[in-house]
Amino acid sequence: MVEIRGVDKWYSTFQVLKGCSLSVARGEVVVVCGPSGSGKSTLIKCVNALEPVNTGEVLIEGTSITDGKASLSKLRARVGMVFQHFELFPHMSVLENLCIGQEKVLKRKSEEARDKAMGLLARVGMTAHAGKYPLQLSGGQQQRIAIARALAMDPIAMLFDEPTSALDPEMITEVLDVMVSLAQEGMTMMVVTHEMGFARKVADRVVFMDRGEIVEDTPKARFFEDPQSDRAKAFLSKIL
Ligand code: ADP
Ligand code: MG
Repeated sequence: MVEIRGVDKWYSTFQVLKGCSLSVARGEVVVVCGPSGSGKSTLIKCVNALEPVNTGEVLIEGTSITDGKASLSKLRARVGMVFQHFELFPHMSVLENLCIGQEKVLKRKSEEARDKAMGLLARVGMTAHAGKYPLQLSGGQQQRIAIARALAMDPIAMLFDEPTSALDPEMITEVLDVMVSLAQEGMTMMVVTHEMGFARKVADRVVFMDRGEIVEDTPKARFFEDPQSDRAKAFLSKIL
């Protein structure tokens, strides 16, 4: 579903990604972790073409998105992205946030978009808040709306970049619960997170990055029980 092949990337003279290769199969959940500044956000942005790569390529369902030929708005509609800061449109109601992409990009009629939106609001437990504005909601509620908004586009895969790290502790579970149910329903997911409880529950593989490199890419059990690299061992000892 997602294939990253030998990607190098520089921010001017600083090499942020070094020979990164990674594939995510249909229905797989891959958790990406590693120290701050190791390139996790940059890697995930390359999968959505929010950042260009310098060398190597990224393929979505076998089609290159880095050869300059791909339609980026179509791609972004197909690969949902949820960020640390919820990035909802502040001047639009919850319902409008969920409908705008469906109407503008997917050309759905407003009634169809609304039905889809209401179904997703029910799914994330936010039906009662459809008419509110983002700033009237808690961080956990905003993040659930951000997930619902991404799902409204019928994505083939979902990317998450530290979706719970800006939340107060009591709101983390309500967001993780939505992500766990998505994973259990078979959504293809690439999740940057340090929530190792989430990783233990639903990840198929854990990828550990350090200083722009993918240092480990291992089945979950092995990552927790027997990390191969000293860098991953040191990281785990700090966060567990
Ligand atoms: P992570 O998500 O693992 O914390 P990032 O991908 O955000 O790492 O950043 C990796 C490195 O690249 C950091 O040193 C960061 O300061 C740098 N960086 C990130 N974005 C930019 C940018 N737009 N321009 C220049 N440097 C950047
Ligand atoms: Mg980051």
